[in-house]
Parts: sequence; structure tokens; C-alpha cells
Amino acid sequence: MRKMLVAGNWKMHGSRVVAHALVHEIARSVRERTEAGALACEEVVLCPPFTHLAELAAQFSGSGLAFGAQDVSEHVASGAYTGEISGAMLGDVGAAWVIVGHSERRQYHHESDELVARKFAAALQAGLTPIVCVGETKEEHEAGRTEKVIARQLGAVIEHNGIEAFRTAVIAYEPVWAIGTGLTATPDKAQKIHAFIRSQLGKKDANISLLTRVLYGGSVKPANAAELFAQPDVDGGLIGGAALLATDFLDICAAARR
Ligand code: PEP
Repeated sequence: MRKMLVAGNWKMHGSRVVAHALVHEIARSVRERTEAGALACEEVVLCPPFTHLAELAAQFSGSGLAFGAQDVSEHVASGAYTGEISGAMLGDVGAAWVIVGHSERRQYHHESDELVARKFAAALQAGLTPIVCVGETKEEHEAGRTEKVIARQLGAVIEHNGIEAFRTAVIAYEPVWAIGTGLTATPDKAQKIHAFIRSQLGKKDANISLLTRVLYGGSVKPANAAELFAQPDVDGGLIGGAALLATDFLDICAAARR
């Protein structure tokens, strides 16, 4: 049985003080709800901006929360890569997870499928668990190209890293048209695409395709989380805007039950 996972992507938000207050509140609620048997989700990961990671991971170690970064360099060895942060550096400050291939990186930083595949490899090499994002734009969605796009994005990662990498790695299906827009894939549509993602893995290894966690992301809110997470191939969520509000985020985590 796959464990339900909810990850929060804070994007570029929050001062140190705000970040601390938010995690403090999330950690307190996680503790209370766990004690009351009201938290269904087995794993909760927070992905703050790089600048807050070390402090938060140290302050909240043992809280039951795990920490991740929003991106990682493709470069593994130290070197002259101004502005880059390696996987080893992330691990050194307490990150265990990292998001790669978020649509905002693909769109604004022109990250190709191949670069995303190399970042995924760099994450694994540093002992981090990658959460690789795939998803179609509005135009691709309207042109009926969703599956083609996802097959291409996922195919590049599988080709570069091998199917075995998905024993640990996580996939997030994030339709670009649903991110931060208030639009969400219907539960049926999300299930269809998640099943398609699993079928792509299954072409290489049937067992791994059943093990790999596939998260849904795109305007997940407390009001729609339960229905999305109830789908058999949806194993939790990657949450943007609602991860910046402790109560909403916790309500979403509470909806992540089998
Ligand atoms: C995201 O940024 O990964 C995301 C899913 O954002 P939102 O939940 O705000 O749509």
C-alpha cells in the first residue's frame, strides 16, 4: 500500500519570521491532530525557499515534518556555478526532498525535459527524494495533447534515470492551467491522467508502477481535496497557495486518507 503524502510548495513567499510562524503552527496542529487520530496523511513535506531551509529543518527536527527544496542544480560536484545550489548542500542543511521540473521552472527558466531529468539524477545522487512535476499547459489541454505531453516529460526522466529510480521518486501531476488559477482537474479527469502516468511506468516495470506515488497539484483546497484524494491512483497532493495557510494546509492533509 502506498503512503499518502502531502507536500507544500511555498514558492517565493515569506520572511524568516513569517516562515517560522507558519511552520510552528503547522507542527503544532500536526501534533494535536495526530494525537487525536485526526490526521490521515502519513507524510507531510514542506518546501520553503532555499534561504529558510536550514533554519526551519533544524528548528523543527523531530516535529514529524520533513523538508524539501523547490529546485536543485544539475551539477553534482562543487564548482564555478554561480547561483546554483547542489543536492549535497540541500542534504547538508536537512532537506530530504526536492521538487524538480515545476512548471514555473519549465516556463520562466526554460528548463527542458532533459535538464529536468538531469536534476532528478542529481537529487538521487545526493540522497534526496525527487518530486518530479509533469503537466500540460492550457493550450496543450485544449488541443487534446495532455497524454502526449506527459509521456514526453516522464519519458525523458525514465530514459535518463531508469525505471528503478521510481522505487523511491514521486511524480506530481500538475496541469499548468490549474496552478494558482482556482481551476482544478475534476476528480475523474485527475484519476484518468494518474492512471495514464502509472501505465507509462508499467510499460517498463509493472511492480514499480504500483509502488510509485503520484500526487495531484493545481488549486487543491480543503473543499476539493477529499474528492481528489479519494481517487485510487491519487496518492496525495502538491499544494501551492493553500500551503501558506496553516489551517487550510492541515485540512488538506487530513483529507489524504485511504
Ligand atoms: C504548485 O505551485 O505546485 C501548485 C499546485 O500551486 P496551487 O496549489 O496554488 O495551484
